[in-house]
Amino acid sequence: MGPIVNKEILSQLVQLKVSGRLAHAYVFVGPKGIGKYETAMALAQRVNCLKKSMDMVACDCASCHKIAGANHPDIMVIEKPEDKTGISIDQIRVLMQRLEYRAMEASVKFAVIKNAELIHEAAANAFLKTLEEPRPGTVFILTTAVPDALLLTIRSRCQMVRFPVMANLALAELLKSQHEVNSDDAVVLAAFGQGSPGRALELGQDFLDRRCVVLDAFLGMGDTENFVKVAGVDRDTAREALNIVLMACRDALFIKAGGLDKIVNRDRQVEIRRFAERHMPEDLALYADRVSDAIRRIDGNQNVKVVLTVVREMLVS
Ligand SMILES: [Zn+2]
Repeated sequence: MGPIVNKEILSQLVQLKVSGRLAHAYVFVGPKGIGKYETAMALAQRVNCLKKSMDMVACDCASCHKIAGANHPDIMVIEKPEDKTGISIDQIRVLMQRLEYRAMEASVKFAVIKNAELIHEAAANAFLKTLEEPRPGTVFILTTAVPDALLLTIRSRCQMVRFPVMANLALAELLKSQHEVNSDDAVVLAAFGQGSPGRALELGQDFLDRRCVVLDAFLGMGDTENFVKVAGVDRDTAREALNIVLMACRDALFIKAGGLDKIVNRDRQVEIRRFAERHMPEDLALYADRVSDAIRRIDGNQNVKVVLTVVREMLVS
């Protein structure tokens, strides 16, 4: 995965540092994969770069190099261990001890806490003390997708930085230009990536393959059983399949309205057009509503196969 640093936020924070107004604690807020952690590390690099380089990816100074390799002694990253339910008080204590020492190499020390909503309550209280006594030369960056899950006392001591989600078009362009995704796939991944480059890339080829199977089964004439078999594996598969179907209904509506440039499933245009030709626009709009409703019923714990059968039969009739 290539860099997904938010360059605007990075340059605003660098400006604050230059003018001596960088706060001592930030919460980076935004969905998974939007580049919160990458931007935090890029800031740590920029602020500490020995060559004052603008391009940290290419910079070969010792500081940039160590931060990129995650072995800089003054840039600390804390996250939930894989086998634990949260960030423990021991992890916070180790962090606090390390912050007691003077910086070994950096001009500004950084403590980055990933998914800070996972700090256990006892650990959060210990951490709060650290936040209340800011040390000059140390910056805390907490990242989270769910800021409301942070203790209010922590939130109130940090400045919030919101990472905007990207518009689909801009995201598709980014996937094409920086990640070598072809045009048709980029549009699909952007539409399902919810404005987050990291999420779009995580969906990747696996999702594109699943989408093809779902569309084959859905657009295949008269074979309800196959669609239910493909989409009904479990609740998550069903939800994803229905979202794919919903996008196909939406594309069919755009085809009817002559908005070809707006369709997402460009590689399946011929079949979706055939599907569109069998239905009136008002029916397609109604189907889209019913598929949305079916997604809510899946989330509401209704029987997956029953919901899928109803959807499929409604759309084929
Ligand atoms: Zn450097």
